[in-house]
Amino acid sequence: MAHKISSDYSEEEWGNWKWHVSHTIKDLATVEKLLGVKFSVEKRRSLEDTIRNFPMSITPYYFSLIDPKNFENDPVFIQSVPSAAELNFSCHDKEDPLAEDVDSPAPGITHRYPDRVLFHVSNRCAMYCRHCTRKRKVGDVDKTLSRDDLVKGLEYIKNTPQVRDVLLSGGDPLLLSDSMLEWLLSELKAIPHVQVIRIGTRVPVVLPQRITPHLVKIIKKYHPVWVNTHFNHPREITATSIRALRLLADAGIPLGNQTVLLAKVNDCPRVMKALVHKLVENRVRPYYLYQCDPAQGLSHFRTSIGKGIEIIENLIGHTSGFAVPTYVIDAPNGGGKIPIMPNYLISQSSSKVILRNYEGIITAYYQPEDYHPPKCGQDCSACNLELDLNGAAEGSLVGIARLLSNHEDTDYLVPTECDRMDRRKSGYDQIVTLGTSLIQHGKNSDRIYLMRLAAEETATLLPEMQSLAAENGYTKLFAKVPGDVKTLFEADGFETEAVIPCFYGGTKAGYFMGKFIDEGRKTEENAELLEDVLKVAHSKAGKALSFKLPRGYTLRKCTADDTAAMAEVFSTVFASYPFPIYEPEYISRTMTESITYYGIWHGQKLAALASAEQYPLEGHVELTDFATLPDYRRRKLAGILLHTMETEMKQKGFGVSYTSAVAESYGMNISFARQGYEFAGRLKNNTQINGGLKSMNIWYKCLKKQTK
Ligand SMILES: *Cc1c(COP(=O)(O)O)cnc(C)c1O
Repeated sequence: MAHKISSDYSEEEWGNWKWHVSHTIKDLATVEKLLGVKFSVEKRRSLEDTIRNFPMSITPYYFSLIDPKNFENDPVFIQSVPSAAELNFSCHDKEDPLAEDVDSPAPGITHRYPDRVLFHVSNRCAMYCRHCTRKRKVGDVDKTLSRDDLVKGLEYIKNTPQVRDVLLSGGDPLLLSDSMLEWLLSELKAIPHVQVIRIGTRVPVVLPQRITPHLVKIIKKYHPVWVNTHFNHPREITATSIRALRLLADAGIPLGNQTVLLAKVNDCPRVMKALVHKLVENRVRPYYLYQCDPAQGLSHFRTSIGKGIEIIENLIGHTSGFAVPTYVIDAPNGGGKIPIMPNYLISQSSSKVILRNYEGIITAYYQPEDYHPPKCGQDCSACNLELDLNGAAEGSLVGIARLLSNHEDTDYLVPTECDRMDRRKSGYDQIVTLGTSLIQHGKNSDRIYLMRLAAEETATLLPEMQSLAAENGYTKLFAKVPGDVKTLFEADGFETEAVIPCFYGGTKAGYFMGKFIDEGRKTEENAELLEDVLKVAHSKAGKALSFKLPRGYTLRKCTADDTAAMAEVFSTVFASYPFPIYEPEYISRTMTESITYYGIWHGQKLAALASAEQYPLEGHVELTDFATLPDYRRRKLAGILLHTMETEMKQKGFGVSYTSAVAESYGMNISFARQGYEFAGRLKNNTQINGGLKSMNIWYKCLKKQTK
């Protein structure tokens, strides 16, 4: 075979790795010649297309492992000779599936995990694996990197003290020259915080001649150096590769193996078991079994995840523990390696766990009844385990480990995309006191709202509100005030937007006044619609519908046990809201204050709810937070809630019940009109609700007999 590759070949060259590198097979004609076949014109054309996109390069040694009599099914052939299927990209395939280029803080470095980095130190490979996850780069720049190229990566490692493990990768790091490799290892070894160096290489598989006594002598000077190689099939473990592995192991280099699960190569429990047995026989510990990455050009290599689980099921328990690799999916977009296993934990109670073993035997393991885990807080100096942590970093915990820990108070993790959390961050109103007056403000509704005025503070309050607005750039001030201070507010630029004649104690008028800092905010873009809503509402005035609950429905006050269901309904109904009513904790807090919630259930399901917000000092109650799930609309549930709440509040002695209804929506305005509520006026562009700044209609009903 070697003579067919090179006419001036001499016997001793087979053992020289440089000969193999300079005689890699890169064209189809040589493949045909060596296999003694002729591809059809079509096949040739499609393969040449493939090679133009993804080049071919096979060492003579690796090619010599192909069985020419059955090459189409040969695992070595499939891994090294292109297939037209490489050009079938599926829509989920990516160029850089593991986001290695994105997670790269310095040239050649991928820093994904807290304490270790991947360092791409070579862009050469002896053989171009058809299943390469870095296929995008294969053959791109077929030159070794210079020392200058690597210095920036080394600098990054030097300047990043948390990096204790450096994984040399590539390309293949062992295609660097001995002197270059020695320089690199010595530079890394000189960095005090680098405790371990790892080399990831396929050289023992595709170019075992590279493992020379001289190379091994260099590596062992910089211990601890771990080597991970990449055998995928037992056929790759040959006398020559065994010799290479022996050299490495005899030099005290711990050896691991990373296999990629590949369709038609090793997607078989028996092949995999033979592989791991041959590996451990040669002092190589199976480390990872990778699910094939979704890189472009690899779809024909990919198996189901079930195949991988089946393989692990056939290994665990069936063979030596150290012969079983960890099956991992390298999560797309840089999520890192995620281990996958068959399930062995079947069930558990507080005293037992139920497990099954590889034979199918199901057993109970009794947990200790008197186990007291250490409750250490974060105070390691008080630790009674007397661990000598030897300066171990007390870095903050990440992920589930953080949730599990007793000394971190994090109790949830939130995805970056979470509408509910975004709404929270968008800034709910804060409530502050100025003197004894109560003010609410926030960028959400972009305004200041004077909720409760201590009348004697009016003179100082007005300028304070003004400057608070200026500080935050708010465009509106809004106040609910009694008649006797109305003129002071008018003098300050406020205008009346709504009036309720019986607002205080059922007798005194209350003025809803607005001051527009930005005049533009006064313009209502949907004025016509707002007028129509009012017209329709007025046309139904007093025409109350039946207050009878439909069959199968029940109405009652909500309790703290209902808050999760309530938050769910609010989340469904409101795209945004001035208060965090999406949070059960917020709802239960308001329950202990002055808000009573009423709900209507359909069977076990909360279908609609609303609240009565009570102001005993002022003698008024606001009926608000009306929310009905979409499936339960048109059943008059809001009207029934309104009637019930009003009746109860009247009994409690409140002088007036009122509401503010989103002015553009027919439903609530009509409900209040039907129920005999009077229109008090409209607050222009007043409240952030349902995804925008909305005008609100004020409706009220005096609950006490008016005496003139
Ligand atoms: C695989 C990998 C590592 C090493 O992971 P281990 O689980 O420690 O072997 C480090 N960095 C990156 C980017 C990797 O993909």
